Amino acid sequence: MNIIENVYDIVIIGAGTAGLSAAIYGVRAGKRVLVLEEKAYGGQIINTPEVENYPGIAKISGFEFATNLYNQAKGLGATVKFERAVEIKSQEAATTGIKAVDDGTLTELTTVTGKVNVVITESGEYICKSVIIATGAKNRPLGVDREKELIGVGISYCATCDGMFFRGKDVAVVGGGNTALEDAHFLSNYCNKVYVIHRRDQFRGESRLVDRIKSKSNVELVLSSKVVKLLGTDSIEGIVVENTIDGKSSQIACQGVFVAIGQMPDNERFKNVVSLDQYGYIVAGEDCKTSCEGIYAAGDCRTKTVRQLTTAAADGAVAAIAACE
Ligand code: NDP
Repeated sequence: MNIIENVYDIVIIGAGTAGLSAAIYGVRAGKRVLVLEEKAYGGQIINTPEVENYPGIAKISGFEFATNLYNQAKGLGATVKFERAVEIKSQEAATTGIKAVDDGTLTELTTVTGKVNVVITESGEYICKSVIIATGAKNRPLGVDREKELIGVGISYCATCDGMFFRGKDVAVVGGGNTALEDAHFLSNYCNKVYVIHRRDQFRGESRLVDRIKSKSNVELVLSSKVVKLLGTDSIEGIVVENTIDGKSSQIACQGVFVAIGQMPDNERFKNVVSLDQYGYIVAGEDCKTSCEGIYAAGDCRTKTVRQLTTAAADGAVAAIAACE
């Protein structure tokens, strides 16, 4: 019998809401579960100041929600490693009997036969029967010149992380979804002035949140407008916005620009094993099954119409139960 290190029943890629929910269901079903996370646990919700739409929890910060979920998954026995998964290989098992070395202890495992998946990270390889991809999505950039070089000196994608640096200053929030509306409200409590720049005259986000920022005297809505230029040499000093109706440009002086224009998937690295749609989302239905047997996609990384905390958690449960079967 070969001894192979790093063997799990289920490897979950991503420690956001979907991934950690899957981990909870996996370990509770008695499976050996590894969660791989490239950055910090929690996913997108960690940057949300207040969650008020998760059934059963009236109000909680995104950070506290994510931390509770992480501690719950770890407490139940999931292993979490902070490594970036770079590829998945689907192959026939090289052995019929496997033992794992975990923290120096030899552990007898279920025999793995037939097809297995190998998840390759920047620092290792993990063999498993099932993989659940729960990579969520990454922030969409504005796409204007010098955006990248001004990150950290005026450009931010996270109001709760960086808002405090702009206390008493003027800032712009770009976007018209719930994230932009929540960010604008959060920043209005600390900043002198908050401009909300949105490309249409109707918000995509909830009307309740729109009403909330409209009630703030230091929030100004700049609608039907897009950011076309960032001003300032070593840090942001302002932006140029172009009106989408009359094409006229105007300058807004501000020291910070919070970009909240949605997310993009981050699945290119898996396209050798699972089908992606034209936007890069993993093609999978409500059963979370992908084009490859044994590989599931849960949460915002898959094709779906509603991307919410509740649907991410639901996907985690569905994918884990399917993976256990
Ligand atoms: P959304 O996709 O909901 O909104 C993105 C916004 O950015 C839209 O208003 C869109 O404009 C605009 N936009 C997109 N691309 C560009 C671009 N290139 N230039 C300028 N503007 C652009 O993303 P969010 O991050 O706001 O929300 C994602 C999901 O998370 C949603 O389902 C949301 O409901 C949920 N969420 C829930 C929260 C909560 O419940 N507490 C908190 C935050 C998010 P347009 O409208 O014209 O398409």
